[in-house]
Amino acid sequence: MADLAELVDQIAKDMATTPERGRVADYIPELAKVSPAHFGLVAITADGQEVAAGDADLPFSIQSVSKLFALVEALGRNADAVWARVGREPSGSAFNSIVQLEAEGGRPRNPFINAGAIAVTDLVAAGDDPRAGVGAILRLVRRLAGDDGISVDGAVAYSEAATGHRNAALAHFMKAHGVITGSVDATLSTYFHQCAIAMSCRQLARAGRFLMHGGIDPASGEAIVSPERARRINALMLTCGHYDASGEFAFRVGLPAKSGVGGGILAIAPGRACIAVWSPGLSAQGNSLLGTAALERLAGAMGWNVFNPDG
Ligand code: GLN
Repeated sequence: MADLAELVDQIAKDMATTPERGRVADYIPELAKVSPAHFGLVAITADGQEVAAGDADLPFSIQSVSKLFALVEALGRNADAVWARVGREPSGSAFNSIVQLEAEGGRPRNPFINAGAIAVTDLVAAGDDPRAGVGAILRLVRRLAGDDGISVDGAVAYSEAATGHRNAALAHFMKAHGVITGSVDATLSTYFHQCAIAMSCRQLARAGRFLMHGGIDPASGEAIVSPERARRINALMLTCGHYDASGEFAFRVGLPAKSGVGGGILAIAPGRACIAVWSPGLSAQGNSLLGTAALERLAGAMGWNVFNPDG
């Protein structure tokens, strides 16, 4: 098997000089300011080895990777009642699709497309104070990463709130169908702020460790979720974590993972490793182009794949 530190270093070097880097998201104006030249990679193995390369400690906007943490928080509060409002089926559609939501009576396909994530966040927002909901998600990621310095990038949250008309349309449509029960404005504000949480690859990889250990946070020994819930969250990440490119990602990488339009991806090799990668340029489906390529190479060389008999 390849030496992990050498491999991570070599991948970061190669990615730094790759000319085709995808397109940085510009529908959220603040994200368009980020240079496509960045690349960061951190892998943490089950025995606690942490290997980093490139811009591993530079915070970026985690965007839809936050949907994972919002789901953990919502499941903690509401358990299986979450599934009354959101499905568990890959959408095969764009992350911000409106037409599918209408065709299916306002019930989002899964918690990782925008509509599903907004419905999940509505459960976390609970009251009408957006700060409380964001505070709960932020507390969770700080605890998981073991880092109280993690915060929301206010400029990104403001930028998305000012331009988030599609998400507002999805939220109002779900409110009309009773899928959102709280105030649409409070729920959207919570959602925009959770998406604007800024984390580095190192912080993100640490925050994902519980999912490679059957729900146990290795730093504290605490059960963040039950083993069954960890398995199910990983199943959703594998089938829905990359929107209409989830099948392609499973084919190429073979690991549960969640992407965000900030260019971050958190990937889990259960029992083996937890990997965070960041490269801001995106594919047409809104997933990090080089992040996916790097994960394909790293997971392939290490044999990390949920379909490997010993992966
Ligand atoms: N905040 C982004 C949005 O709602 C998240 C999308 C994403 O990362 N895919 O459009």
